[in-house]
Amino acid sequence: MRTLITGGAGFVGSHLCDRFLAEGHEVICVDNFITGRPTNIQHLRNDPDFQIIVHDASEPLFVDGLIDNVLHFASPASPVDYVKSPIQTLKIGSLGTHVALGIAKAHGARFLLASTSEVYGDPVVHPQTEDYWGNVNPVGERSMYDEAKRFAEAMTMAYHREHGVNTHIVRIFNTYGPRMRLDDGRVLPNFVGQALRGEPLTVYGEGQQTRSFCYVTDLVDGIFRLLFSDYHLPVNIGNPSEITILQFADEILKHTGSKSTIVKRPLPPDDPKQRKPNIGLAQKLLGWEPKIDRQEGLKLTLDYFRTKV
Ligand code: NAD
Ligand code: UDP
Repeated sequence: MRTLITGGAGFVGSHLCDRFLAEGHEVICVDNFITGRPTNIQHLRNDPDFQIIVHDASEPLFVDGLIDNVLHFASPASPVDYVKSPIQTLKIGSLGTHVALGIAKAHGARFLLASTSEVYGDPVVHPQTEDYWGNVNPVGERSMYDEAKRFAEAMTMAYHREHGVNTHIVRIFNTYGPRMRLDDGRVLPNFVGQALRGEPLTVYGEGQQTRSFCYVTDLVDGIFRLLFSDYHLPVNIGNPSEITILQFADEILKHTGSKSTIVKRPLPPDDPKQRKPNIGLAQKLLGWEPKIDRQEGLKLTLDYFRTKV
């Protein structure tokens, strides 16, 4: 099989490249390195089954030969990154999704969209089930990301319904692991970097907001299963183990053995107060559930970050 992955040089995308190559696929990675890094795929450069196309995936792209699968993962994903590039974020979620769907249609390929728990916005339904329509501020400071992903889901369903493309939509909840950028601004790289440098950990607001963190290889396994399923509506993939951000800061201090203190910083606008996936659908449809708990996942992630600080 030949699999095209947009955003393949990013954090999640590079783990997907590894998994599909390990499954015997040829992999074409399309990336413009706006938030990803060449080092994430450096180990694949000499693999004859791996190809990189440096390209802005919001612009048309024509690829020769057969393509069996298209996975659209290109998009800034950290709030700091997408707030810095709002128009690029809207373009890759809208025009980029259109381009990626066009490639899948032209090649008769399976398609999978990387959507997000952010489509639920600041959710009033908790834990979040796939049938919840969300609570998103359409003009707020996170809207470039949330609305782009909501549009991307609508575009994906339109290609399925109008053109019969074999599409899939994964709603990814907060995921962590090796190859996150230490400076991407997300909570785990921030806390780990600060703890290892002996700087105070910056907790936004009172730290009572919750998140549920999934280790990256668990996510990749769920995505792999979903791509080869017959299901076309969105599916949550995440780890339901929920924790407040203040508790998470304490866990990072414990795991790193750091003597850093905790400081409070202003809460960014529209920061969701609670987030936890209901994964009943993924369990039933895909026989999937996460295998790596935070204890183990944080150890694996810290082993990586210790070599980077
Ligand atoms: P990332 O920033 O590490 O990776 C995104 C990749 O997309 C980068 O390599 C970047 O260079 C590339 N990219 C962005 N715009 C592009 C463009 N116009 N053309 C070509 N390449 C482009 O982020 P990530 O955490 O790996 O996220 C990957 C995908 O998963 C994103 O679509 C994101 O929305 C989704 N997602 C991730 C999480 C998470 O917790 N990591 C949660 C929800 C959804
Ligand atoms: N956060 C924090 N300190 C940081 C970075 C983030 O307290 O240095 C908080 C942020 O306000 C949010 C949570 O941690 O409530 C998760 O933030 P992240 O940017 O990782 O992702 P989000 O889930 O908001 O997309």
